[in-house]
Amino acid sequence: MPSPKKICQTQIKLAILHNRLDWVKKTSMANLRTPKHIFVTGGVTSSLGKGIISASLAKLLQARGFSVTIQKFDPYINIDPGTLNPYEHGECYVTEDGAETDLDLGHYERFLNVPTSQANNITTGRIYYNVITKERQGEYLGKTVQVVPHITNEIKRNFFLLSETGKYDIVITEIGGCVGDIESLPFLEAVRQARWELPQEDILVIHLTLIPYLKKAGELKTKPTQHSVKLLSEAGIQPNILVCRTEYPIPAEIRKKLALFCNVHLNAVIESIDADSIYDVPLLMKKEKLDETVLQKLHLPTNQEINLEEWKAFLGKLKNPTSEVTIALVGKYVELPDAYKSIAEALIHAGATNECKINIQWIKSENLVNQADLEHYLGEVEGILIAPGFGERGIEGKINACRYARENDIPFFGICLGMQCAVVEFARNVLGLENAHSFEINPQTPHPVIDMMEEQKKITDKGGTMRLGSYPCELKDKTLAKQIYGKKRINERHRHRYEFNNQYLNQFVEAGIVASGINPDSDLVEIIELPKHRYYIGVQYHPELKSTVLNPHPLFVRFVREAIGYKAR
Ligand code: GLN
Repeated sequence: MPSPKKICQTQIKLAILHNRLDWVKKTSMANLRTPKHIFVTGGVTSSLGKGIISASLAKLLQARGFSVTIQKFDPYINIDPGTLNPYEHGECYVTEDGAETDLDLGHYERFLNVPTSQANNITTGRIYYNVITKERQGEYLGKTVQVVPHITNEIKRNFFLLSETGKYDIVITEIGGCVGDIESLPFLEAVRQARWELPQEDILVIHLTLIPYLKKAGELKTKPTQHSVKLLSEAGIQPNILVCRTEYPIPAEIRKKLALFCNVHLNAVIESIDADSIYDVPLLMKKEKLDETVLQKLHLPTNQEINLEEWKAFLGKLKNPTSEVTIALVGKYVELPDAYKSIAEALIHAGATNECKINIQWIKSENLVNQADLEHYLGEVEGILIAPGFGERGIEGKINACRYARENDIPFFGICLGMQCAVVEFARNVLGLENAHSFEINPQTPHPVIDMMEEQKKITDKGGTMRLGSYPCELKDKTLAKQIYGKKRINERHRHRYEFNNQYLNQFVEAGIVASGINPDSDLVEIIELPKHRYYIGVQYHPELKSTVLNPHPLFVRFVREAIGYKAR
């Protein structure tokens, strides 16, 4: 029996005979593609921006016509970050298929404009879970199950899952954490093994490090990077490329020194200087020829046209605003802006679309206790956005902010818990339903205007059990939502357990609320709006997760436009 590759080659020869060149091109791309693998590790310190570097490199390769995806391997033991407090880990990013993932996947989507999935984010917990499940099923019968080879094999299996789909030319794998962390060891060991299993030209390692500047000495220092590369080589990995984060330009002699001591080519020392915006990084990496160096090392052609026109147009608008507004982002985790990463980025995209600079005023909802607080914190803003969230802390402040926006006709945007707070506020202060609340916060409330979803009532496990991922929503004619989206049916991503209680719907409608978006299968209210108000909209889903540089989310774009209008009133 000839191998599939052989059959394919014969078919190609036949096709050439029949002059079907187009077919040949497609088939040889799809069937004979051997995906290349790029691993990105980090050293010296965390928070150097491996996610942004990975996304920027992917963007450049995509702009050259390659099909690229990025996956992140996280060394913690949680199965996913869904159960982590945002203070621990920043925002939990939800994919179309309902995976609760690391916030770097948000960067990947915002840069590449291509959805990710569960396969793009794997944790140590998930690796061990799979191995232990297999052990119980008897898959390793008779064997002692060990980190090497069983855990490392499972890591490698996951490394290659996306590349095996045949959809990608290049798969970039970001290894979370720092070289030297105990937790990262099995991942690095798996990378080391993969390097010996794949042809040399199909795999490379980029190491991201820090070149600190010592003010008193007036010098950039290379020693931490040398040590970090040494640690990596102790794990059996010699990096091919160094990306060096720095506050100042790296002069030629320092680059030479890094190349010499860290065992890399001079052109493989890439400077990554602090940028004004993360969206500048692809162009900075292009200037440093990171993409070219990568392609050469992977034996891939470098002579394609690079299409970054739309990206540059976005940057042009981002950098040349013609107006400026202040948006209050009312939340519970505001000390850590990463907790609301996608919202902040969606505002940046919408700002650029409107050629408007957005100043986000981060407001801790607990500070909004009385009228004086509301006036102090919200009196000067041009838009109020109430953030998603869970639990009781700060909830009354969010409800107060909803009232302040409604009564003062300030553009309002409530997201998930933000929408639920708007419903509670309206119930209490307009419908006169005393002590109305969300069942999540007060199960004893006489008016649970936000109630637990029916299917959630039987669930006891906390991890991965919310209503997650993409669901359809139908928009009513002649509503703000329909006008903004410009279509009847939309799909948006969710992450919640509670919902608008439809038993109260008539009372809300009679008092002027419009339920403008409804899930066609469950009747769940997905969008509320208040037509009497200048701009008042609340959504049960997370529009911020779908906003990208090339596709800013229409709800954010309109919110910013309304804020500009409000300022000019
Ligand atoms: N805590 C609310 C719920 O579970 C809202 C969740 C959210 O804002 N993501 O329904």
